[in-house]
Amino acid sequence: MAISTNFFAVFNSIPSTSSSFSSSFTKPSLGSLKHHYGLKVGKPSSNRRLVLSCSSSQMDSNSDTMNIGNGRSQISSASSFGLTMSETTMSRTSYKWQRVLLKVSGEALAGDQTQNIDPKITMSIAREVAAVTRLGIEVAIVVGGGNIFRGSSWAGSSGLDRSSADYIGMLATVMNAIFLQATMESIGIPTRVQTAFRMSEVAEPYIRRRAVRHLEKGRVVIFAAGTGNPFFTTDTAAALRCAEINAEVVLKATNVDGVYDDDPRRNPNARLLDTLTYQEVTSKDLSVMDMTAITLCQENNIPVVVFNLSKPGYISRAIKGERVGTIIGGTRNSMAAKT
Ligand code: UDP
Repeated sequence: MAISTNFFAVFNSIPSTSSSFSSSFTKPSLGSLKHHYGLKVGKPSSNRRLVLSCSSSQMDSNSDTMNIGNGRSQISSASSFGLTMSETTMSRTSYKWQRVLLKVSGEALAGDQTQNIDPKITMSIAREVAAVTRLGIEVAIVVGGGNIFRGSSWAGSSGLDRSSADYIGMLATVMNAIFLQATMESIGIPTRVQTAFRMSEVAEPYIRRRAVRHLEKGRVVIFAAGTGNPFFTTDTAAALRCAEINAEVVLKATNVDGVYDDDPRRNPNARLLDTLTYQEVTSKDLSVMDMTAITLCQENNIPVVVFNLSKPGYISRAIKGERVGTIIGGTRNSMAAKT
Protein backbone atom coordinates (compact mmCIF):
# COMPACT_ATOMS: atom_id res chain seq x y z
CA MET A 1 0.00 0.00 0.00
CA ALA A 2 1.59 3.22 -1.11
CA ILE A 3 0.97 5.98 1.33
CA SER A 4 1.97 9.47 0.39
CA THR A 5 4.11 11.11 3.00
CA ASN A 6 4.01 14.42 1.12
CA PHE A 7 0.33 14.65 1.60
CA PHE A 8 0.58 14.19 5.32
CA ALA A 9 3.26 16.80 5.56
CA VAL A 10 0.74 19.25 4.17
CA PHE A 11 -1.74 18.99 6.96
CA ASN A 12 0.95 18.65 9.52
CA SER A 13 2.33 21.96 8.61
CA ILE A 14 -0.68 23.84 8.50
CA PRO A 15 -17.69 2.37 34.95
CA SER A 16 -18.65 0.03 34.59
CA THR A 17 -20.08 0.77 38.09
CA SER A 18 -19.51 -1.37 41.13
CA SER A 19 -22.56 -2.67 42.93
CA SER A 20 -21.71 -0.88 46.15
CA PHE A 21 -21.21 2.30 44.25
CA SER A 22 -24.51 2.14 42.45
CA SER A 23 -26.51 1.04 45.46
CA SER A 24 -25.24 3.92 47.52
CA PHE A 25 -25.75 6.34 44.70
CA THR A 26 -29.20 5.67 43.37
CA LYS A 27 -30.72 8.57 41.54
CA PRO A 28 -29.31 11.53 43.39
CA SER A 29 -30.85 14.82 42.46
CA LEU A 30 -28.74 17.27 40.54
CA GLY A 31 -28.93 19.53 43.56
CA SER A 32 -27.39 16.94 45.83
CA LEU A 33 -24.74 16.13 43.24
CA LYS A 34 -23.80 19.75 43.05
CA HIS A 35 -23.65 19.85 46.81
CA HIS A 36 -21.36 16.83 46.95
CA TYR A 37 -19.19 17.82 44.07
CA GLY A 38 -18.92 21.29 45.46
CA LEU A 39 -16.29 19.88 47.82
CA LYS A 40 -12.97 21.35 46.97
CA VAL A 41 -10.18 19.09 45.76
CA GLY A 42 -7.74 18.75 48.59
CA LYS A 43 -10.30 18.45 51.36
CA PRO A 44 -9.66 15.48 53.62
CA SER A 45 -10.44 12.22 51.88
CA SER A 46 -12.92 11.35 54.63
CA ASN A 47 -15.19 14.00 53.14
CA ARG A 48 -15.02 12.30 49.81
CA ARG A 49 -15.86 8.95 51.41
CA LEU A 50 -19.15 10.45 52.54
CA VAL A 51 -19.93 11.06 48.92
CA LEU A 52 -18.87 7.77 47.40
CA SER A 53 -19.59 4.80 49.58
CA CYS A 54 -17.24 2.22 48.16
CA SER A 55 -14.59 -0.11 49.48
CA SER A 56 -10.99 0.95 49.68
CA SER A 57 -10.04 -1.69 47.13
CA GLN A 58 -12.23 0.08 44.63
CA MET A 59 -10.88 3.51 45.24
CA ASP A 60 -7.42 4.83 45.38
CA SER A 61 -7.43 6.84 48.60
CA ASN A 62 -5.33 9.49 46.94
CA SER A 63 -7.53 9.74 43.95
CA ASP A 64 -10.59 11.74 43.08
CA THR A 65 -11.63 9.20 40.48
CA MET A 66 -12.36 5.53 40.45
CA ASN A 67 -10.68 3.37 37.86
CA ILE A 68 -12.54 0.15 37.50
CA GLY A 69 -11.59 -2.62 35.10
CA ASN A 70 -8.64 -2.76 32.79
CA GLY A 71 -9.82 -0.28 30.21
CA ARG A 72 -9.37 3.42 30.13
CA SER A 73 -13.04 4.00 31.16
CA GLN A 74 -13.93 6.09 34.15
CA ILE A 75 -16.80 6.62 36.48
CA SER A 76 -17.64 10.23 36.66
CA SER A 77 -20.34 12.54 37.80
CA ALA A 78 -23.26 13.92 35.90
CA SER A 79 -22.50 16.77 33.62
CA SER A 80 -23.69 20.16 34.66
CA PHE A 81 -26.15 20.29 31.83
CA GLY A 82 -29.22 19.20 33.71
CA LEU A 83 -29.04 15.42 33.50
CA THR A 84 -29.28 13.30 36.63
CA MET A 85 -26.55 10.78 37.31
CA SER A 86 -28.64 7.83 36.16
CA GLU A 87 -29.68 9.55 32.94
CA THR A 88 -26.13 10.56 32.23
CA THR A 89 -24.73 7.13 32.94
CA MET A 90 -27.33 5.51 30.69
CA SER A 91 -26.61 8.01 27.97
CA ARG A 92 -22.85 7.70 28.25
CA THR A 93 -22.86 3.93 28.02
CA SER A 94 -24.36 4.06 24.55
CA TYR A 95 -21.29 5.80 23.16
CA LYS A 96 -17.91 4.36 22.33
CA TRP A 97 -15.95 6.87 24.37
CA GLN A 98 -16.75 8.37 27.75
CA ARG A 99 -13.77 10.68 28.05
CA VAL A 100 -11.98 12.04 25.01
CA LEU A 101 -9.02 14.23 24.26
CA LEU A 102 -9.72 16.48 21.29
CA LYS A 103 -6.63 17.92 19.61
CA VAL A 104 -7.34 21.07 17.62
CA SER A 105 -4.41 22.42 15.67
CA GLY A 106 -3.82 26.12 15.34
CA GLU A 107 -4.09 25.84 11.58
CA ALA A 108 -7.54 24.32 11.91
CA LEU A 109 -8.62 27.28 14.05
CA ALA A 110 -7.50 29.65 11.32
CA GLY A 111 -10.06 28.30 8.85
CA ASP A 112 -9.45 29.89 5.45
CA GLN A 113 -6.25 31.48 6.80
CA THR A 114 -7.34 35.09 6.26
CA GLN A 115 -6.97 35.71 9.99
CA ASN A 116 -5.17 33.92 12.79
CA ILE A 117 -8.41 32.67 14.27
CA ASP A 118 -11.74 32.31 12.54
CA PRO A 119 -14.52 32.93 15.09
CA LYS A 120 -16.87 30.81 13.00
CA ILE A 121 -14.56 27.84 13.53
CA THR A 122 -14.28 28.36 17.29
CA MET A 123 -18.05 28.71 17.51
CA SER A 124 -18.66 25.55 15.53
CA ILE A 125 -16.24 23.67 17.79
CA ALA A 126 -18.01 25.10 20.85
CA ARG A 127 -21.46 24.09 19.58
CA GLU A 128 -20.43 20.56 18.74
CA VAL A 129 -18.61 20.09 22.03
CA ALA A 130 -21.68 21.46 23.85
CA ALA A 131 -23.83 18.83 22.15
CA VAL A 132 -21.70 15.96 23.42
CA THR A 133 -21.06 17.25 26.91
CA ARG A 134 -24.85 17.38 27.30
CA LEU A 135 -24.79 13.63 26.68
CA GLY A 136 -22.35 13.23 29.55
CA ILE A 137 -19.24 12.59 27.46
CA GLU A 138 -16.24 14.28 29.05
CA VAL A 139 -14.17 16.42 26.74
CA ALA A 140 -10.66 17.72 27.22
CA ILE A 141 -9.02 19.77 24.49
CA VAL A 142 -5.40 20.42 23.59
CA VAL A 143 -4.99 23.41 21.32
CA GLY A 144 -2.09 24.05 19.00
CA GLY A 145 -0.57 27.38 18.15
CA GLY A 146 0.71 27.01 14.59
CA ASN A 147 -1.76 29.62 13.33
CA ILE A 148 0.16 32.22 15.33
CA PHE A 149 3.68 31.01 15.88
CA ARG A 150 5.59 27.84 15.24
CA GLY A 151 8.94 27.62 17.01
CA SER A 152 10.73 25.50 14.44
CA SER A 153 9.91 27.99 11.65
CA TRP A 154 11.28 30.95 13.57
CA ALA A 155 14.29 29.42 15.30
CA GLY A 156 17.46 30.99 13.91
CA SER A 157 15.81 34.23 12.78
CA SER A 158 17.58 37.24 14.28
CA GLY A 159 19.43 35.00 16.66
CA LEU A 160 16.28 33.47 18.11
CA ASP A 161 17.29 30.18 19.68
CA ARG A 162 14.99 27.19 19.40
CA SER A 163 13.98 27.11 23.05
CA SER A 164 12.95 30.78 23.06
CA ALA A 165 11.09 30.29 19.80
CA ASP A 166 9.27 27.31 21.28
CA TYR A 167 8.27 29.26 24.37
CA ILE A 168 6.73 31.86 22.08
CA GLY A 169 4.96 29.01 20.29
CA MET A 170 3.62 27.75 23.61
CA LEU A 171 2.35 31.24 24.44
CA ALA A 172 0.53 31.19 21.10
CA THR A 173 -1.37 28.10 22.23
CA VAL A 174 -2.49 29.99 25.33
CA MET A 175 -3.97 32.74 23.13
CA ASN A 176 -5.94 30.14 21.19
CA ALA A 177 -7.05 28.45 24.41
CA ILE A 178 -8.38 31.68 25.91
CA PHE A 179 -10.21 32.49 22.69
CA LEU A 180 -11.78 29.04 22.60
CA GLN A 181 -12.69 29.23 26.28
CA ALA A 182 -14.42 32.57 25.82
CA THR A 183 -16.36 31.21 22.85
CA MET A 184 -17.42 28.14 24.78
CA GLU A 185 -18.50 30.08 27.81
CA SER A 186 -20.47 32.48 25.61
CA ILE A 187 -22.80 29.59 24.82
CA GLY A 188 -22.89 28.30 28.37
CA ILE A 189 -20.27 25.56 28.40
CA PRO A 190 -18.33 25.69 31.68
CA THR A 191 -14.69 25.61 30.66
CA ARG A 192 -11.33 25.75 32.37
CA VAL A 193 -7.99 26.50 30.79
CA GLN A 194 -4.98 24.83 32.38
CA THR A 195 -1.52 25.86 31.30
CA ALA A 196 1.60 23.72 31.40
CA PHE A 197 3.51 26.62 32.96
CA ARG A 198 2.15 29.13 35.42
CA MET A 199 0.19 32.11 34.17
CA SER A 200 -2.02 32.34 37.21
CA GLU A 201 -3.71 35.61 36.27
CA VAL A 202 -5.18 34.11 33.13
CA ALA A 203 -5.53 30.39 33.70
CA GLU A 204 -5.09 27.58 36.18
CA PRO A 205 -1.82 25.72 36.25
CA TYR A 206 -2.04 22.17 34.99
CA ILE A 207 -2.89 19.88 37.90
CA ARG A 208 -3.90 16.43 36.76
CA ARG A 209 -6.31 15.62 39.58
CA ARG A 210 -7.94 18.98 39.27
CA ALA A 211 -8.35 18.54 35.53
CA VAL A 212 -10.03 15.19 36.12
CA ARG A 213 -12.39 16.71 38.68
CA HIS A 214 -13.35 19.46 36.25
CA LEU A 215 -14.18 16.82 33.65
CA GLU A 216 -16.23 14.85 36.16
CA LYS A 217 -18.22 17.97 36.87
CA GLY A 218 -19.03 18.33 33.18
CA ARG A 219 -16.57 21.11 32.49
CA VAL A 220 -14.52 21.17 29.35
CA VAL A 221 -10.82 21.45 30.15
CA ILE A 222 -8.56 23.14 27.62
CA PHE A 223 -4.90 22.32 28.04
CA ALA A 224 -2.63 25.10 26.85
CA ALA A 225 1.12 25.67 26.52
CA GLY A 226 1.70 22.18 25.18
CA THR A 227 3.87 20.05 27.41
CA GLY A 228 5.55 23.15 28.84
CA ASN A 229 8.83 22.08 27.27
CA PRO A 230 10.54 23.30 24.14
CA PHE A 231 11.31 20.81 21.35
CA PHE A 232 7.92 19.16 21.76
CA THR A 233 4.63 19.63 19.94
CA THR A 234 1.03 19.95 20.93
CA ASP A 235 0.40 16.52 19.39
CA THR A 236 2.74 15.12 22.01
CA ALA A 237 0.95 17.21 24.62
CA ALA A 238 -2.33 15.65 23.43
CA ALA A 239 -0.96 12.12 23.79
CA LEU A 240 0.57 12.95 27.17
CA ARG A 241 -2.53 14.59 28.65
CA CYS A 242 -4.72 11.82 27.23
CA ALA A 243 -2.64 9.22 29.07
CA GLU A 244 -2.51 11.28 32.25
CA ILE A 245 -6.23 11.93 32.57
CA ASN A 246 -7.18 8.44 31.41
CA ALA A 247 -9.00 9.65 28.35
CA GLU A 248 -9.75 6.84 25.95
CA VAL A 249 -8.84 8.36 22.61
CA VAL A 250 -7.04 11.23 20.94
CA LEU A 251 -9.31 12.82 18.35
CA LYS A 252 -7.08 14.77 16.00
CA ALA A 253 -9.09 17.42 14.21
CA THR A 254 -7.41 18.46 10.97
CA ASN A 255 -8.23 20.10 7.68
CA VAL A 256 -8.33 16.79 5.79
CA ASP A 257 -10.71 13.84 5.97
CA GLY A 258 -8.20 11.43 7.43
CA VAL A 259 -5.30 9.34 6.17
CA TYR A 260 -5.26 8.35 2.48
CA ASP A 261 -3.28 5.70 0.63
CA ASP A 262 -2.05 8.42 -1.74
CA ASP A 263 -2.17 12.18 -2.08
CA PRO A 264 -5.84 12.87 -2.91
CA ARG A 265 -4.97 16.18 -4.57
CA ARG A 266 -2.78 14.44 -7.10
CA ASN A 267 -4.51 11.11 -7.28
CA PRO A 268 -8.32 11.28 -7.63
CA ASN A 269 -8.46 7.56 -6.87
CA ALA A 270 -6.71 7.94 -3.53
CA ARG A 271 -8.57 5.93 -0.91
CA LEU A 272 -9.41 7.15 2.57
CA LEU A 273 -8.09 4.53 4.95
CA ASP A 274 -10.46 3.34 7.62
CA THR A 275 -7.91 1.89 10.05
CA LEU A 276 -4.13 1.89 10.44
CA THR A 277 -1.81 0.29 12.94
CA TYR A 278 0.74 2.32 14.87
CA GLN A 279 3.44 0.33 13.05
CA GLU A 280 2.09 1.41 9.66
CA VAL A 281 2.24 5.03 10.76
CA THR A 282 5.78 4.79 12.12
CA SER A 283 7.33 2.43 9.57
CA LYS A 284 6.03 4.47 6.64
CA ASP A 285 6.97 7.67 8.44
CA LEU A 286 3.52 9.14 7.92
CA SER A 287 3.26 12.66 9.26
CA VAL A 288 -0.07 12.01 10.92
CA MET A 289 1.51 13.00 14.22
CA ASP A 290 5.11 13.45 15.18
CA MET A 291 6.96 10.31 16.17
CA THR A 292 7.07 11.14 19.89
CA ALA A 293 3.29 11.58 19.98
CA ILE A 294 2.44 8.42 18.06
CA THR A 295 4.91 6.38 20.12
CA LEU A 296 3.37 7.66 23.33
CA CYS A 297 -0.06 6.66 22.03
CA GLN A 298 1.23 3.23 21.02
CA GLU A 299 2.90 2.59 24.38
CA ASN A 300 -0.27 3.51 26.23
CA ASN A 301 -2.73 1.84 23.84
CA ILE A 302 -4.39 5.11 23.00
CA PRO A 303 -6.19 5.04 19.68
CA VAL A 304 -6.01 8.14 17.49
CA VAL A 305 -8.82 9.24 15.19
CA VAL A 306 -7.81 11.66 12.44
CA PHE A 307 -10.80 13.50 11.01
CA ASN A 308 -11.88 16.68 9.27
CA LEU A 309 -12.93 19.45 11.62
CA SER A 310 -14.41 21.60 8.87
CA LYS A 311 -17.17 19.10 8.02
CA PRO A 312 -20.31 20.02 9.96
CA GLY A 313 -21.10 17.57 12.70
CA TYR A 314 -17.81 15.71 12.46
CA ILE A 315 -16.47 16.86 15.81
CA SER A 316 -19.50 15.58 17.67
CA ARG A 317 -19.56 12.43 15.54
CA ALA A 318 -15.91 11.76 16.32
CA ILE A 319 -16.48 12.39 20.02
CA LYS A 320 -19.46 10.03 20.03
CA GLY A 321 -17.28 7.36 18.43
CA GLU A 322 -19.11 7.31 15.10
CA ARG A 323 -17.32 6.38 11.93
CA VAL A 324 -15.35 9.39 10.75
CA GLY A 325 -11.87 9.72 9.31
CA THR A 326 -9.15 7.18 10.03
CA ILE A 327 -8.60 5.33 13.28
CA ILE A 328 -5.04 4.43 14.22
CA GLY A 329 -4.34 1.66 16.72
CA GLY A 330 -7.97 0.94 17.42
CA THR A 331 -11.06 -0.67 16.01
CA ARG A 332 -14.46 0.59 15.03
CA ASN A 333 -17.15 -0.74 17.29
CA SER A 334 -20.07 -2.41 15.61
CA MET A 335 -22.55 0.25 16.70
CA ALA A 336 -20.40 3.10 15.45
CA ALA A 337 -19.87 1.30 12.17
CA LYS A 338 -23.58 1.42 11.43
CA THR A 339 -23.92 5.16 11.86
N1 UDP B 1 5.49 23.95 21.55
C1 UDP B 1 6.53 23.55 22.37
N2 UDP B 1 6.34 22.53 23.25
C2 UDP B 1 5.17 21.86 23.33
C3 UDP B 1 4.12 22.24 22.47
C4 UDP B 1 4.30 23.28 21.60
O1 UDP B 1 7.60 24.13 22.32
O2 UDP B 1 5.06 20.95 24.15
C5 UDP B 1 5.66 25.12 20.68
C6 UDP B 1 6.37 24.83 19.38
O3 UDP B 1 7.16 25.94 19.06
C7 UDP B 1 5.23 24.69 18.39
C8 UDP B 1 4.26 25.72 18.91
O4 UDP B 1 4.39 25.63 20.34
O5 UDP B 1 5.63 24.99 17.08
C9 UDP B 1 2.84 25.50 18.51
O6 UDP B 1 2.49 24.14 18.72
P1 UDP B 1 2.21 23.16 17.48
O7 UDP B 1 3.15 23.45 16.38
O8 UDP B 1 2.20 21.78 18.00
O9 UDP B 1 0.75 23.63 17.08
P2 UDP B 1 -0.21 23.10 15.91
O10 UDP B 1 0.65 22.54 14.81
O11 UDP B 1 -1.05 22.04 16.52
O12 UDP B 1 -1.01 24.29 15.53
